[in-house]
Amino acid sequence: MKTPQEYIESLRRLNLVVYQFGKRLTNVVDDPVIRPSMNAVAMTYALAQKKEYGDIMTATSHLSGKKINRFTHIHQSVDDLVNKSKMNRLLGAMTGCCFQRCVGMDALNALSMTTFDIDAKYGTDYNKRFLRYLRHVQDEDLVCDGAMTDPKGDRSLPPHRQADPDLFLHVVGERKDGIVVRGAKAHQTGAVNSHEVIVMPTIAMREEDRDYAVAFAVPSDTAGITYVMGRQSCDTRKLEEGKIDRGNALFGGHEALIVFDDVFVPRERVFMLREYDFSGQLVEQFASYHRQSYACKVGVGDVLIGAAQTAAEYNGAQKASHVKDKIIEMNHLNETLYCGCIACAAEGHREPSGTFYVDTLLANVHKQNVTRFPYEIARLAQDIAGGLMVTCPSEDDLKSPEVGKWVQKYFHGTSDVSTEHRLRILRLIENITMGSAAVGYLTESMHGAGSPQAQRIMISRLADMKAKQKVAKRLAGIAGEGDETDFS
Ligand code: SF4
Ligand code: FE
Repeated sequence: MKTPQEYIESLRRLNLVVYQFGKRLTNVVDDPVIRPSMNAVAMTYALAQKKEYGDIMTATSHLSGKKINRFTHIHQSVDDLVNKSKMNRLLGAMTGCCFQRCVGMDALNALSMTTFDIDAKYGTDYNKRFLRYLRHVQDEDLVCDGAMTDPKGDRSLPPHRQADPDLFLHVVGERKDGIVVRGAKAHQTGAVNSHEVIVMPTIAMREEDRDYAVAFAVPSDTAGITYVMGRQSCDTRKLEEGKIDRGNALFGGHEALIVFDDVFVPRERVFMLREYDFSGQLVEQFASYHRQSYACKVGVGDVLIGAAQTAAEYNGAQKASHVKDKIIEMNHLNETLYCGCIACAAEGHREPSGTFYVDTLLANVHKQNVTRFPYEIARLAQDIAGGLMVTCPSEDDLKSPEVGKWVQKYFHGTSDVSTEHRLRILRLIENITMGSAAVGYLTESMHGAGSPQAQRIMISRLADMKAKQKVAKRLAGIAGEGDETDFS
């Protein structure tokens, strides 16, 4: 397994084409806006080195028998699934943001099943190719970006009927040794912190869309790939010299648009090619795993609840009954989220490929809760924090020879706590609930791993309504449903 330092050095060897604020970056690794997001990924390497987190952060490869980082592991048991949820909570709490590496783990696990199932139907050899690729990822301890979301253009039209055929990524050429693809993937978490990009289709497809039914993996610096960084609110605070106003100066997340401008993919790295009837399955399996992965938000919730309690203490308000009750409510919501991601893992099962898969209904219910509860937890944290969270002067003012004394004097809370500490904890709450980390804690909770409606569709499909009606009719004494349990 790589150390965090080896991970960062390995990124230096990549030749990525990255644009940010309209300019090409010459040094991605040391860019001040990107670096915190890289540090968050580096944490997935750092914790895997620590003995106390060994069970959670590492696993035994079913291919090599070696100890590997859990982010490259194919789940071999229910315990593996449960440990994955625990790992994501732990990392959310240690970074306070999106640590990005789960998309690749979820893509690998989904592909381990779908390639197996395609081969069973068509006699192809995708699974063998995939396992060779997986071995490479495990041996090198790589970060993979799981790229699913196409730009999608007009949502009422399927891929082949879009005015611009590239609005969904598709195959534009085929050679004996591979394929050529064109299109883009939007909102890609951790894109420029990744060694590899794993591309999957974004929706179920019909025969007319067969050129869009394609899955493959390429090194992230493959010719023809361009990254355009997404903005986050308050991102330019990362360019400031001071650290207090950043809220969380160490860690962050990032998203980017990844453009594939006629990219060649060697056949060895193609895992689905025009088997459109498996596109929906791959989407559903990746999405269900990633909905489980939103255990990460429970960890960020831990940070936010801790920050709210600290802010209350610094204000001298921690004993007020309404403050205590708000903290209870935050914990109730956060632990309810935890129940969901543990439950869908504990109810997991073995698929024909041997991979363990989460309970999809519970994974979707969990993610649906994630689209709501963090907003309420954030509202309560802002309530407890008070207005100073958004009106407090800058770090430069706090340290100014002229006005620093006024900031120190008038923003002091309880006498035993420095003004600086009070402002630091408020900036952290600001960062998570409305600053750059709010992308990860709030908007990503809403739209990441599929928007709320996507989960509602799955819930309506998966809830066994016939069984529910049967038990109701039986107890109501409706003919034909209850006779066998009449003990009289
Ligand atoms: Fe992982 Fe959560 Fe970020 Fe998705 S949003 S990549 S699950 S940390
Ligand atoms: Fe996400």
